[in-house]
Amino acid sequence: MAVIPVALAGRSYEVRVGSGLLADVAGQCGKLLRKQRVPIVTDSNVAGLWRDTVATSLEAAGKEPRWLVLDPGEGAKSWRVLERVMDWLLDEEVERGDHILALGGGVIGDLTGFAASIMKRGCGFVQLPTTLLAQVDSSVGGKTAINTSAGKNLVGAFHQPGLVLADLATLDTLPVRETRAGYAEVIKYGILGDRAFFDWCETEGPKVMAGDKAAQDYAVTESVKAKARIVAEDERETTGARALLNLGHTFGHALEAETGFSDRLLHGEGVALGMVLAARYSARRGYISEADGERVVAAIGASGLPISIAALGMDADGRKLANHMLHDKKMDSGTLPFVLLRGVGEAFLDKQVALDDIAHFLDE
Ligand code: NAD
Ligand code: ZN
Repeated sequence: MAVIPVALAGRSYEVRVGSGLLADVAGQCGKLLRKQRVPIVTDSNVAGLWRDTVATSLEAAGKEPRWLVLDPGEGAKSWRVLERVMDWLLDEEVERGDHILALGGGVIGDLTGFAASIMKRGCGFVQLPTTLLAQVDSSVGGKTAINTSAGKNLVGAFHQPGLVLADLATLDTLPVRETRAGYAEVIKYGILGDRAFFDWCETEGPKVMAGDKAAQDYAVTESVKAKARIVAEDERETTGARALLNLGHTFGHALEAETGFSDRLLHGEGVALGMVLAARYSARRGYISEADGERVVAAIGASGLPISIAALGMDADGRKLANHMLHDKKMDSGTLPFVLLRGVGEAFLDKQVALDDIAHFLDE
């Protein structure tokens, strides 16, 4: 088991990565579970696969698991479901010093984390991420949120978990398309700041999707280390270090918006193609060599992620995609900040990229 500390100004917490952590969830959480009753929020897909494992460990330790099982999908990150979670936590008499368990992907983690942040002005929670995306990205760093009609993740809070347990065994039940989408965020850490990790992804990355445990262990551990480093530097997104995590995301969000945030394009798939576009746009601007830009594209393609807009069967011109970026809250007199590449493993924030230029580039 790897233990990665996330060191923050006031306090720190651990991310533990290994196989079989859920089967020992009571032991892993230890004193964080101070009462007999343990509230757990999950979705029905995950409950069907992992509820018994968690329940068995808790019951063996004399605990009484209390379950709130929600419908799967992004729809759970809503005012309506948040209200349901809050009422349930109040019924369960959760107090500030207690820890709620969030068992699931990024949806359950974001929703439960936000609920914990406002429960009696803030109670504890433990992230038990069960998707690759949640293990390498959403469970680490303390961003929690729900969606509203105004957009995604606009209502939320910074609220750090007390502990994160990334059990690699849960990846065995995850559909490969979801694993691949999560892998986009893995290779992202290499592309944005770690050349050696990118080199590893280039040759070993596909093993993550094939279910190779050693490869998954290395990929998750290195990704968490990268995220922990960036979050420690910039806990509340004020210094700019955290902005680099948005590599591929501005293009990605435009693609997601174009598909109406539907299952046609998973977030990670949008990010993968977004990174391809960021690499090629960086080459066009002369920041990165053609050859290095295409190396990035090839490594993303080798993992089975989309590398062209045409491959998505999307009929979208540059202007249409750029128009989706107009609603970005960082938009400033026709320009947007974009994470671009100076080299493989060397991302930087270009604070003012003209949207017109992006639209032209997308049409080329
Ligand atoms: P998700 O939570 O919807 O999970 C994807 C699907 O996999 C769901 O159907 C789920 O039921 C199923 N599933 C989960 N674990 C499984 C398992 N082990 N076996 C089989 N099926 C399983 O999606 P996600 O991709 O994990 O997370 C996406 C969410 O994360 C988005 O809402 C996004 O905004 C958020 N996010 C947050 C942050 C952050 O910093 N807080 C970062 C990135 C993404
Ligand atoms: Zn992302």
